[in-house]
Amino acid sequence: MNYADNILGTIGSTPLVKLNKITREVDALVLAKVETFNPGNSIKDRMAVKMVEDAEAGGLLKPGGTIIEGTSGNTGMGLALVAIVKGYKLICVINDKQSKEKIDILRAVGAEVIVCPTSVEPDDPRSYYSVAKRLSEETPDSWYVNQYDNPSNSLAHYEQTGPELWRQTDGKITHFVVGVGTGGTISGVGKYLKEQNPDIKIWGIDTYGSVFKKYHETGVFDENEIYPYITEGIGEDLLPENVDFSIIDGFTKVTDKDAAVYTRKLAKEEGIFVGGSAGAAIKGVLQLKEHFKPDDVVVVLFHDSGSRYIGKMFNDDWMRERGFLDEEVTKAEDLVRN
Ligand code: PMP
Repeated sequence: MNYADNILGTIGSTPLVKLNKITREVDALVLAKVETFNPGNSIKDRMAVKMVEDAEAGGLLKPGGTIIEGTSGNTGMGLALVAIVKGYKLICVINDKQSKEKIDILRAVGAEVIVCPTSVEPDDPRSYYSVAKRLSEETPDSWYVNQYDNPSNSLAHYEQTGPELWRQTDGKITHFVVGVGTGGTISGVGKYLKEQNPDIKIWGIDTYGSVFKKYHETGVFDENEIYPYITEGIGEDLLPENVDFSIIDGFTKVTDKDAAVYTRKLAKEEGIFVGGSAGAAIKGVLQLKEHFKPDDVVVVLFHDSGSRYIGKMFNDDWMRERGFLDEEVTKAEDLVRN
């Protein structure tokens, strides 16, 4: 018989899929690591398990205790699966920019969800960072995960995601392109890959409204870079300890509109139904095409599932209200393609 002991045993070993149409202007082999195949439908299952196991081993989390996290949804889903299997309570503190689907899903898997305003400074007592911290101080037997600064986050990708990519590409990967939020994915995968072959280039995808690109290029934390944006999961208004800027070769920024439009294209042209940070990542690959040569093997990572964005970029009214649905352009492109 061949079965997993519980749902956590199905995490990882996600497929690597060749992109065929959306990358037609790129002169290299472009492969997508599709993390939707994890049981919580995102890459975050991997680090959720690792962070909990390390907290147990370090005596920070006791049997029957409460896990508290300020999460944009995907980490919450991963933590919810771990909490169910291992018998913990889970409180997720989330900001109001996140999709309703993400909140409903978290509640469906037994998490208590507290929604906080996005439009306040991180150190404001109403921000989700502050509320999560305060709850963890007030709740007995609780453990505050802090995925931004928790080293087990990037370690999960150093131990799992990086080696998977190296094996799946037979060591031929030349570039890794990925959205950056907490920095866990890019830092863990990037460190592992550069240890195998220091020539592999690591590119981060950032958003307009986030500090990463400017900080990487100048070493300056520029508050003028910070303003509200729509793309979920990537970009930050702070510098998480999990971002290892030394292993990142460069960042490219993708607009909210391009992220949304390219997420829809991934579904329509490749049959890959993924979230907005994946649209940003594939648009980033196109923006970087001058960096690739014909023999290169470019891997782009798709963090989560499109099902969490049905009411957002997969909804025409939502797209139109934001000026993202340029019908003339869409029709013209269809004509050219047909
Ligand atoms: N995309 C999505 C949808 C995410 O939830 C996250 C996590 N914030 C990321 C990208 C970025 O991943 P990381 O936190 O590992 O940098």
